[in-house]
Amino acid sequence: MNWKRNGIKTMTIKGNPESILAELKRLNRFLISVHVSPDGDALGSQLALMLALKKLHKSVELYNNDPVPEIYRFLPHADEIRIGSSLPETYDAYIVLDSDPSRTGFFQNSFPVGTLINIDHHITNEGVWPYTWLDPSASATGELIYRLILLLGVPIDREIALCLYTSIFTDTGSFRYTNTTPESMRIAATLLEYGVDPWLVTEQVYESFAFQRVQLLGHVLANIQRNPNGTIAWVVVTDDLYRKTGTTAQDTDNFVNFVRSVHGVEVAVLFRQTGDTQYKISLRSKGRIDLSGLAQLLGGGGHKNAAGATLNGLFEDVRDSVLVKLEHIVSLQLQKPAV
Ligand code: 5GP
Ligand code: MN
Repeated sequence: MNWKRNGIKTMTIKGNPESILAELKRLNRFLISVHVSPDGDALGSQLALMLALKKLHKSVELYNNDPVPEIYRFLPHADEIRIGSSLPETYDAYIVLDSDPSRTGFFQNSFPVGTLINIDHHITNEGVWPYTWLDPSASATGELIYRLILLLGVPIDREIALCLYTSIFTDTGSFRYTNTTPESMRIAATLLEYGVDPWLVTEQVYESFAFQRVQLLGHVLANIQRNPNGTIAWVVVTDDLYRKTGTTAQDTDNFVNFVRSVHGVEVAVLFRQTGDTQYKISLRSKGRIDLSGLAQLLGGGGHKNAAGATLNGLFEDVRDSVLVKLEHIVSLQLQKPAV
């Protein structure tokens, strides 16, 4: 089913796992990729699907545009993920998880020859590949991979469980966000029964930060700004600040959540410098404001409460154009009764 929101076409459940299942059983050489700047859901899904396909004696390679962030290196077989800007070989099937195919960094202009499979839960995914399974109601792509692995008939083991638990744990913000459902809790509970240690995941993801990262956070939060009525707050991370603190973009993961945590803030923005005149924005809402339409309008995408995009221009111009658009949607959407 399609519908229009903020003038932008979006999708609900599209495709199904059954047609993908037949291709996974039929073919032998697979490549799996995820989005640039991979997160816990992308990496957990990628590794879990690789482990399951290998149990069926398939050849599987993992290839991403960006390296695995330090906090996710504990994931089993994370060191097998190869990094590069172009694919080295050809495969029977290309699988993209937790992303539009174009957001992998590999498939922007042309699609490879082979079976093209895309599994995702982002509401802004356009679903352009022939074997597409999109379910925005899933808390994480890891939830979809869990269902696929059950359908494949592969027994789940502790390594697969650890990967999938990390997917769901991170994409639900530790089971706190509105995407947390009875189903995501049930799957997580089942995964714990396979021997996942929840504290190990928490410690790796949230309590193993480099000292410099916390210093960077201090600098960033010291300069938090908000609009006159306090509904929008934002912070900025510049190249200069990375240099000063000896940090990188990876160290800014989740910074935007501190900005959202302020009383009265409906939308939080992190502006992160990614080039001389380029900024990546991370948008977060408390639930009353739907950000996915705006992110898509800006050339990015995401979910209702968490979305992002990359913008070009001088910082002041980028900031002002984002804030003007946000003021507009916040005032418009706050007037509407909650649905
Ligand atoms: P983050 O702010 O953590 O980078 O991203 C928040 C959410 O929006 C994630 O689900 C992420 O996948 C999505 N997202 C962030 N930036 C982009 C983008 O440039 N394009 C698309 N399609 N999605 C994005
Ligand atoms: Mn995800």
